[in-house]
Amino acid sequence: MRYCKKCVLPDSRPGVELNTDGVCSACVGAREKRELIDWQGRERALAAVLKENKASGGQYDCIVPVSGGKDSTWQAYTLKNKYGLKPLALTYKCKYRTPLGQKNLDNLIDIGVDHIDFTVSPEIERKFMLKTLQRNGSVSLVEHMAMWAITLKMAVKLGIKLVVWGENPGLEYGGSEKDRGNPYLNHDWIRKYGVTNGTFAADWADAELTLDELCTFTLPTEAELSDARIKSIFLGWYLRWDPLEVAEFSRSIGFQWADRPVFGLYPYADLDCDFIVIHHFFKWYKFGITRLWDNLAIEIRNGRLTREEAVHYIKNNPEPIPELQIKNLCAFLNITEERFWQIAESHRNLDIWQRGSGGPQKGQWYLPALVEEFGFWPDTYAADVK
Ligand SMILES: [Zn+2]
Repeated sequence: MRYCKKCVLPDSRPGVELNTDGVCSACVGAREKRELIDWQGRERALAAVLKENKASGGQYDCIVPVSGGKDSTWQAYTLKNKYGLKPLALTYKCKYRTPLGQKNLDNLIDIGVDHIDFTVSPEIERKFMLKTLQRNGSVSLVEHMAMWAITLKMAVKLGIKLVVWGENPGLEYGGSEKDRGNPYLNHDWIRKYGVTNGTFAADWADAELTLDELCTFTLPTEAELSDARIKSIFLGWYLRWDPLEVAEFSRSIGFQWADRPVFGLYPYADLDCDFIVIHHFFKWYKFGITRLWDNLAIEIRNGRLTREEAVHYIKNNPEPIPELQIKNLCAFLNITEERFWQIAESHRNLDIWQRGSGGPQKGQWYLPALVEEFGFWPDTYAADVK
């Protein structure tokens, strides 16, 4: 486990690769975004793609998957008001949508877009989520797989040829050079960056959860997408994406921030669903980071924090265990909290975690590489390390 010299991310995080100078792919990507990319040229390219794909005869011009978050609010507004398109917005309705998430989704619809709220049968979702939690330590795999599949299937079924996704996590959180240069989403991209742990729905089918039950999560094939001439683009490839600027713009058109960050650094992110908190919580076990690390890394890359300030922030802002969200998840999955903690423990990555043999970490789980890099052990999720 080695840390990027510029930000605070370790190479244990998927997608983060350090180059020979010890700089991570996300920081290299951020430098490209700042210095090398011709954003005006890309904006012209976007205008051309949107014009070329504009539907005729009173059809929707594109499908936009939205959560009601700051990014999707900005996306829907930009497509409708800046580029004059008629988008159809589509949401996978997550379990435990928060009241603020609902308010923000209502606000997005009030921008003037038609919207479909797609609810998956809770029985199937429960079975699937328990499986993904046990096998991969992920609750968000289900949500992501549903979002990719529902959106693309609806595009094919409704004959809407353009799908406009938001930011490209391969660009924002680390991805290969080739992938950073690619504005299109396809099966290969989903496998690598789609938060599906490299799997597709068929990989999860068995006697308990059949392929029929998983139909909501099954992507159209590449051939079906190509026959339907579906084009899937990331707006974040064409337009420079800064979370703070996007959040401030969205606030100016009615998107509400939380009073304080739910967790991590931002009071304007991860507001829609309680379960996203659990998704990020498992990063501690699997990769040795929390959402705070991701957020701080972005602030460093955007020049609003130094690495030293970020490390100082980690030291002085230990994060609490998300107890309420864990309770809600256990109630939904119908498991005990004891079982939840067993599952969490089973995902501790022993390549990076060790039990201390002496000193302040004696007998406790800790990350030797973190202590070596930063010179301290944070109290993050302290009850977990007692
Ligand atoms: Zn970095």
